[in-house]
Amino acid sequence: REGTASKAGAAPRRTVKLTHPDRIYWPNEGVTKEGLADYYSDVWREIAPYIVNRPLALLRCPEGISGPAFFQKHAWKGINPNITLAQDPKSASEPLISISDLDGLIALVQSSALEIHPWGASLADWDRPDTIVMDLDPGEGVSWSRIIDAAQEIRQRLTDAGLTAFVKTSGGKGLHVVAPLKPHALWPEVKAFTKAMAMAMAADAPDRYVATVAKAKRKGKILIDYLRNQRGATAVAAYSTRARPGAAVSAPIRWEELGLDIGPDHFTLTNLPNRLAMMSTDAWEGFHSAQVPLKTRRSR
Ligand code: ATP
Ligand code: MN
Ligand code: MN
Repeated sequence: REGTASKAGAAPRRTVKLTHPDRIYWPNEGVTKEGLADYYSDVWREIAPYIVNRPLALLRCPEGISGPAFFQKHAWKGINPNITLAQDPKSASEPLISISDLDGLIALVQSSALEIHPWGASLADWDRPDTIVMDLDPGEGVSWSRIIDAAQEIRQRLTDAGLTAFVKTSGGKGLHVVAPLKPHALWPEVKAFTKAMAMAMAADAPDRYVATVAKAKRKGKILIDYLRNQRGATAVAAYSTRARPGAAVSAPIRWEELGLDIGPDHFTLTNLPNRLAMMSTDAWEGFHSAQVPLKTRRSR
């Protein structure tokens, strides 16, 4: 890989100019706008498959993580020309945001996007998701080992359905279990599949899991948030930074790594490039080739 690694392969060039490169985005870590651009240049090869050519929502924080933040789905007036406008074929509203290259990503940094949240479908087919995301949201008082158990259970259920599951830290409190799909099934089928899984887990172990968002019911339990899997919904991208103290990133890990040593905010903008430079293979090796169509009852 490029960047800090010594391995062959030219780093892609970025040409987008940063204004105020010294603006502080993460005060405690002293990470600036330029530091964020450097991070994304370093991880470009790894993050690209998860953010290129798909609709993106951004968490924009013009004054860094301590200032106001807004979650933005639509393109804005005066948007950097390296950011691509993506018109939802099913909507007459303002175009959405997407990127096609490293300059697009650096333009997002220039626009103070501290979190990047893609759809689970690409611009090639807005209606057929190529990614399932099961988002594990621990309620108050849930131990990390129980979150790990939940991820393993979801992995098993996805495997039983013929899918391959991958896991990443959220960079916040939980884990995301992700499964690549061949884009065949439509959003409603994929949503129904993930909803059935969440409901089954809550029915089998009501002391451990809930499938509905009501916060009052979450204490001591894990919400199996399947609602990332509907048209227009987003989840934070693999390798995206988080606009939270600590400068954690959402980091793909191997199932063997998932243990008590690695918490949800273990990997950061600072240590992740080093980790990638040390690894000979991607933590999510085979992600793309693991794509299979979802076999729903309807298509069987
Ligand atoms: P954690 O592990 O702390 O739960 P997370 O990224 O999974 O981290 P969630 O609150 O579970 O956080 O997920 C919220 C998801 O909802 C985000 O991934 C984002 O894509 C989406 N979202 C929709 N609207 C918003 C909004 N206004 N602000 C933030 N996220 C939003
Ligand atoms: Mn979550
Ligand atoms: Mn959630």
